[in-house]
Amino acid sequence: MCGIVGYIGSKPAYPILVKGLKRLEYRGYDSAGVALIDDNQQLNVYKTKGKVSELENFVIQKNISGNIGIAHTRWATHGEPCSENAHPHFSSSESLALIHNGIIENYAVLKEKLQAKGYVFKSSTDTEVLVQLIEYIKITNNLDLLTAVQLALQEVIGAYAIAVIEKNHPEQIIAARKSSPLVVGIGDGELFLASDATPIVEYTDKVVYLNDEEIAVLSNGTELKVVNLHNAEITPDVKTVVMNLGQLEKGGYSHFMLKEIFEQPDCIHDCMRGRVNVEGTNVALSAVIDHKEVMLRAKRFIIVACGTSWHAALIGKQLIENFCRIPVEVEYASEFRYRNPVINNEDVVIAISQSGETADTLAAVELAKSKGAFIYGICNAIGSSIPRATNTGSYIHVGPEIGVASTKAFTGQVTVLTMLALTLAKEKGTINQEDFLEVVGELNSIPEKMKEVLLLNDKIAELSKIFTYAHNFIYLGRGYSYPVALEGALKLKEISYIHAEGYPAAEMKHGPIALVDAEMPVVVIATHNALYEKVLSNIQEIKARKGKVIAVVNKGDTIISKIADICIELPSTIECLDPLITTVPLQMLAYHIAVCKGMDVDQPRNLAKSVTVE
Ligand code: GLU
Repeated sequence: MCGIVGYIGSKPAYPILVKGLKRLEYRGYDSAGVALIDDNQQLNVYKTKGKVSELENFVIQKNISGNIGIAHTRWATHGEPCSENAHPHFSSSESLALIHNGIIENYAVLKEKLQAKGYVFKSSTDTEVLVQLIEYIKITNNLDLLTAVQLALQEVIGAYAIAVIEKNHPEQIIAARKSSPLVVGIGDGELFLASDATPIVEYTDKVVYLNDEEIAVLSNGTELKVVNLHNAEITPDVKTVVMNLGQLEKGGYSHFMLKEIFEQPDCIHDCMRGRVNVEGTNVALSAVIDHKEVMLRAKRFIIVACGTSWHAALIGKQLIENFCRIPVEVEYASEFRYRNPVINNEDVVIAISQSGETADTLAAVELAKSKGAFIYGICNAIGSSIPRATNTGSYIHVGPEIGVASTKAFTGQVTVLTMLALTLAKEKGTINQEDFLEVVGELNSIPEKMKEVLLLNDKIAELSKIFTYAHNFIYLGRGYSYPVALEGALKLKEISYIHAEGYPAAEMKHGPIALVDAEMPVVVIATHNALYEKVLSNIQEIKARKGKVIAVVNKGDTIISKIADICIELPSTIECLDPLITTVPLQMLAYHIAVCKGMDVDQPRNLAKSVTVE
């Protein structure tokens, strides 16, 4: 969380920084700030509570000149969102300004030490401790900024991506990372810095992803220099990023979330490109083929993930168990990493994360690796930390996801998990050719079926108006639809702030049914599958208690349509691929309810997109 941007070159820095902050605003939007050094070597810091647009208003009439600057959009961890806690933070002498993404875990001890030396703090953040520590080390030992940063970071426990500038040295930005992402963009006589490549791609496609404990020295007019905390020089690995600007803009949609919902047919197509053949008769996920020995030998799969990715993992469990006959456990990464799990070199751990930077998932990967497990990553952001920490993996290739509530990344993850299960099952011989062809053929037709579902947008927008009154929602599903119910409930909570719970439909009777009354909307995924009759009974039970049933059914359903209050009719597919179809109307339902309630759909309160703090 938190967006970091930096610029050094010959252009005015401010417009580049603010544009970059807007591209990163999905990462945090509690407050925003910028630090610039002008031609008279004045270090100006402007920061304010709220979004980047508020920063823009705040700096009207202020001196925003300078060809070097750093900027930040915050997701608070230490200290409330207010202008004092906003970044950049000044050092005591106001000659250094620093921005930070992450958590300095030993900040309290360091703060006490500095206070004893007479340092006074203006904010309640952990970040301010770091800038003061750098200054203290710099002044007491009479060091240059780079050396002071190296020494300070050796004292720090925690996660950081930082950028620091110094009033008397307008020719350089010092940046460093550990467990929080940081990318340097190499332009023509100019250098850029950002939390991910999105603010950089319109200026250059040459980027360097910093590794943990690497420090980048961005100097005017010279090449990028990278060193480690002990000053050993590292040759930067320059990569070319392919990202088109259209992917980063709303393209006529009122919100990124709606755009991303509508992109899903193309995304799934892109995700399958080169993996499912054009005829829809074969699927081969190269990471599985390349590592088939270790995957075939595995006694168990463990999938670690958080949030929406965890829901995709629950679907992955069913797919892999069904097709490959390997036991699969699904774990919250945050729990797994702290509970001394039993794990060894006969396990394959699959880590799922859209951003590839999710702190808990990354830590779970490191733990599993240390115990000898083989690690397979499923991520979206190319070159991010998890793909670099794993033995192998598959990108979902759905393009940048900007809306904080995940949509296309979820369906992309489910698509990759399906391809993984099919590729492995074929290698293992646990699926017969007829079933294999049926699933691959159906998978190939999912994008077209998704397009049909998207035609329901207006209808769902209309029916959403009815439910703005609700304070609670229940979502029910069974089998493959159970994780879809969880995901539907999560979407609603995230963006409309309506309390919602997902349950396996049969669990209703064991407690939640007590909540059902005439006020309670219950969304039931009731497509035609092996458990259809059972779900039908669950619907009867809700109707008997006067609940309002919104049923997600297949076209032509004549039974449930008579009982449910509202039916959303979808094209049918085979049971294991149903989540790719049934999730889409639930995304639209959450979206439209939130819009009707006037909520900030793309940047819901208290949330941020990539959770790089634990
Ligand atoms: N810990 C810092 C703060 O609260 C940065 C937060 C973050 O990276 O999300 O200001």
